[in-house]
Amino acid sequence: MFETVVTGLILRPEKRRIKPSAALDRASRGQYSERFEDLIFRQWGASMASTIANVELSAAESDLFEVGGLISRSTPFWIQGAGGNISLKQPQGDVLRIKASGLRLDQVSPQSGLVDLRLSECRSSLQQLHEKSASVEDKDDVEEGYAQALTRPVVSASDPQFARPSMETGFHVALEAPLVAHFHALTGVLMADLWYAADSRFQSWAKSHLTSVFGSWMFVDWMKPGFELYEALATEECRDKKLIVMRNHGVILGLDGAAGFHKWVELENAFLTEFGFAELGQLRGKSIQDIVAQRPELRTGPMRFLFPDTAVFLERLEKALKSTSTAGGEEHFTFDVASTDRDALELWAGTQLLLKTKPDVSSLPHDFVAAVAKLPTERYRLSLNPSPRHP
Ligand SMILES: [Zn+2]
Repeated sequence: MFETVVTGLILRPEKRRIKPSAALDRASRGQYSERFEDLIFRQWGASMASTIANVELSAAESDLFEVGGLISRSTPFWIQGAGGNISLKQPQGDVLRIKASGLRLDQVSPQSGLVDLRLSECRSSLQQLHEKSASVEDKDDVEEGYAQALTRPVVSASDPQFARPSMETGFHVALEAPLVAHFHALTGVLMADLWYAADSRFQSWAKSHLTSVFGSWMFVDWMKPGFELYEALATEECRDKKLIVMRNHGVILGLDGAAGFHKWVELENAFLTEFGFAELGQLRGKSIQDIVAQRPELRTGPMRFLFPDTAVFLERLEKALKSTSTAGGEEHFTFDVASTDRDALELWAGTQLLLKTKPDVSSLPHDFVAAVAKLPTERYRLSLNPSPRHP
């Protein structure tokens, strides 16, 4: 059904004019902090505290679950389907604790969904693979080597059937921060879109705000998840970054603790207001069920590859979508109300939200889409998570 869509993919890098907003730099003037405290701690803090109260956790572990819990409650605003991951470099010992491959972030808790691996062993295996990868002709062998470099150092898993670490473990190992959170924030896609469209107003805003809020930051162009993304981020220049915004993918935060996550919300708030996307910001903290109930038009729209996961989960999307109309020479699809595939609905609604917010948002190139759909580590993730049900 999607062949014509894939081969007909057109990149439209032209700039979009954005009206200057009167709201300047509100975050740095502190106008968001109160609203944010209210949002995070009143709405969600209580429920997270009760979830983890029965388990003895270190302060660093509590922070890990707090951050994971916050991200997983905002679908599709911060996360869609089984994407995104969190990790902690344990203060004692040589252990990286990370989300298992194939699970949703809301399936991670102190009792489930985690894998522990020997950090130094994983780091040196990845380094060795990096040194020899340029001379390996078959790139499938490199991907296989990457999967092994992540799996061999595993020492324990909370669920035996989910014993492999996230396929994005590579950059969690490479980055220096003790707590790393990666998620597919719609705002991150919009920021990277403007950055790579060379939107001068956004670029000057980013240089000032990303520096004042995060200190060290960078944008990363189209990069395949897995080994390619690991190699891009395992450099001297990237290892200490606190914020990485990835084109058509999402963001990575390098945090010292849960408090650092608040900086991301502060930055998002300033961005959404300044660039005229405030309506999108109202969906943060809401679940997919509430969002599609309020905005049924998000079920319908064109097929676009705005995230690598759209390529990975294409078959599942195809099962849930029906071709319903043609608009502007482009086929439009509607997500079947009878479908129970929540992951696919989140991915589809996230895509349509971005398109309704910024119709000219860039898509992944065709060769990228084709390559991501073939990755062995991604195929593995897909096989583990064939079709979750609505709750
Ligand atoms: Zn990702």
